[in-house]
Order: sequence, then structure tokens, then C-alpha cells
Amino acid sequence: MKVFSSLLFSFLCLSVCAQTNHFCGDVLIKHQLENKYPGINKVVDQTFEEAKTRSTSRADVLRIPVVFHVVYNNDDQNLSDAILKNQIDILNEDFRRLNSNANETRAIFLSQAADAEIEFFLAGEDPAGNPTNGITRTFTSLASFINISITDLLEALGECGSDFADPDVAACIDEFFAGSEALDLDAMKSDATGGKDAWDTNRYLNIWIANLGLEGLAGGDPIPFVLGFAYPPMEAPNWPEDIFPEDLENKDGVVLHFQAVGKDNPFAGVLAGTNDAGRTCVHEVGHYLGLRHIWGDGDCTVDDGISDTPTAESDSQPTIDIGGCGDLHSKDSCMEDGLPDMIENYMDYSLESCQNMFTNGQVNIMRSMLEGPRSGLLENQISSIQEATLEYSIFPNPTSGNINIISTDKIDLVKIYNASGQLLLSTKELNIDIQASKSGIYFIEIIGKQSRSFQKIIYSN
Ligand SMILES: [Zn+2]
Repeated sequence: MKVFSSLLFSFLCLSVCAQTNHFCGDVLIKHQLENKYPGINKVVDQTFEEAKTRSTSRADVLRIPVVFHVVYNNDDQNLSDAILKNQIDILNEDFRRLNSNANETRAIFLSQAADAEIEFFLAGEDPAGNPTNGITRTFTSLASFINISITDLLEALGECGSDFADPDVAACIDEFFAGSEALDLDAMKSDATGGKDAWDTNRYLNIWIANLGLEGLAGGDPIPFVLGFAYPPMEAPNWPEDIFPEDLENKDGVVLHFQAVGKDNPFAGVLAGTNDAGRTCVHEVGHYLGLRHIWGDGDCTVDDGISDTPTAESDSQPTIDIGGCGDLHSKDSCMEDGLPDMIENYMDYSLESCQNMFTNGQVNIMRSMLEGPRSGLLENQISSIQEATLEYSIFPNPTSGNINIISTDKIDLVKIYNASGQLLLSTKELNIDIQASKSGIYFIEIIGKQSRSFQKIIYSN
């Protein structure tokens, strides 16, 4: 039995862990959406084409408020605030090209590598206007949101093949389980189905974190079925209203498997070494902002719609015999374009430690989506807030940590952000330790009944 188990595990790990190293549920969710809302993928493609030609006007840093919905069945799944904050840090590093491995981008791709000038912060205000830390926690009675047994999965893999990155395989697997509700990829997004209802998806990037794994053998770590998935931006003003039922809007956002969240997540399990750098979230937010897989989900004749990414015949999986990123660097699956495969790209499936860039073309799409179908997210952006009508003073400024606010108007809420726009603190107090960790510029937002104000604080320790 033990031999059988370990053989089974080897097979599963070959199918699920290695070959499908960074399997995201992108093709699977698109297949499900098309089944539910026929014609929708055409709308997604149309939205992408519009984003390419939209004339954008904003040159500033675009800041996106995030809410994490942790939906857990046990302590491992109930990830700490520290891991979630670390995930925000990784998003900010990678989208600002401040990642520590940015210097590993090969010279041939350096001119394409871009700072997206997009940042993320934990929402400081919930939809009702109350202070929040941007994290909700919901206990669920569901051990996993992927209700498939290993036996069923093996049967499906036998019938469909194991290359999850292939849209035909994903469609076959989806159909294999169709009707059983075993593969309802949206169940974690609703109170009624054991999950958590979204916050207004036009104003917040909702990121659900849940168990998307199969039960591990002999009670071990779960085996991830998918690491995550995202709804793509969709905008179809000329489509009949019933094409976009409210239900669809309420499911918009990103879903992450709990083991793939943050860097060095202590619960990474089988993902340790391949998918433990927090870049599943970066990849999925890329999808959420309109990006496609870098190999275009097809062979060399299929493109990802972005002109400065090279073509690739397939995704870049690490080999079992890992020789670091160097092994992947030799990959050149489509010779015609004269460039190796861009395994550095966050929208590939290569080792997370080898990923280090978005391209200018990808950045243009993402920023265009933020001025188009995703523009509601920027309404919470600090830089868009009107200058003060509030009367107040802050002292001392510069400060060594503590500040006082004096105002003749009533102040409802005070928020402190660091220079990259991360929310550090949200309080009703007027004598505040700004919780700075290093000398530099911080920002304070003061919110009154009818108005809000925003200004710099200098901290030196
Ligand atoms: Zn993907």
C-alpha cells in the first residue's frame, strides 16, 4: 500500500507538481465563463483590443486598493496578516521593478523591461466607509473548494492528458467534472456557498485566498489543483444587459491557493522551491489587468497580442533536473523571431525565482485597463484626492515618530502611508506614532465629514 501510495504520489507529482508547475486556472475559468455566458470570451478579446488602442492620459503612479478575503477551514489556511502584507510588498516590488532579481533580466530583454508604475495597498476603508485593515477572515466548513478525489483526477488526466496549460486539456477536464459542482471555481466568492461575498468589485481588487488543493496522501500537505485564477477585464457597452448579470460582476477578482501566497510561506508544502516567491499573485493580477500568457496559449503561430514579447511554442516549465535559471535561458522554442523565450516574464510558468519582468507592451495594456474597464479602482487613489478644505496643523514635521494633529474641524479618520503607498495605520487618534521603519517620506491622509486632505511627513530617526 505504501509503495502504491508513493507511486501514486510520484505520478501525481509528475502530473500536478512538476509538469504543471505554475498551472493557473486561466484557461479553465475562461472555459467555465464561456459555458455560463456564451460569447463572453469574444467580449474579453474585444476589451483587450480596445485597451491596445485607447489613448491614455495618466502619467502618475496608479494605486489599487486591495481586500484579501481569507476563507479557511484550518489554521494553516488562515494565513497571518504578516504573510498577506508580504504579498502586497511583493506586488509593489514587481510592478515597480524594484524586485531584488531585476538585475537578472538578460541584456537582450533589458530595453523591454518596464516599471508599470502601478502600486497596491490594503484598503483602509470598507464599502460602508468604516476603518478596516483590508483583510476579512471567514471560516468555511469546506475542507477544499476543489471537491475532487485523487482517483477522479487520475481518471480525468488519463482521459484528457496532463498538460493543464493546453486549453483543450483544460476544457476536457472541465467537461469531465461538469455537472458535479466539484469544479465550481467561484464558490469561495459567496457567503451562500461557503465563501465570502465580494466587496464592490468596481472599487476594490478582491483577492480570495482559499484551499484549491486535493487532499494530500496520508494526511500530508494538499496537492494544489490550480495555484490561482483571475477574471479578465470585460467591457461591452453594446451588449444586451442580460449578458452581464450582477452575479458576474460580484465574482470579479483574483483567487489564490493558500500555499502560493507570499514569499516563503511556511505552508508552501510541495510548492517550496518552485512557487514560493509570491509571484502567483503577480501573475494573476497580470491576468486581472488584462494580460495573457506569454506563449498565447498556443504554438509559435499564436501570439499573446503584445508586440514586445517574443513568441513561444508553449509555457516554460522547469525541468526536473533544475540547473537554475540558466537551463531555462537556453529555451528558444520559436526560432523565427530571433529571440529566446522570455522566461523572465511574470506571465510565463517558469520558476518564480527566474521571473523578474513585465514588458513595456504589457505595462501599456495594464495601465490602459486602469483607465478603461478597471478605472473604478482608482477612485480610492490618494493622488486623486482634492487638496484640503480641512483646517488643521500637524507638528512636529519633520518628526522622529510621534505627531499631533490639531484641527477646528471634526476629524473622522487618519491614515498613514509609506512612500510606496502602503497603508501603515488607520486610526481615529490625533496623537499618533506613525510606525515608520526607516527615515524618509511618509504620507498622511486626514479625513473629515465632507473632505479629506493629504500631505507629506518627513521622518528621521
Ligand atoms: Zn495564468
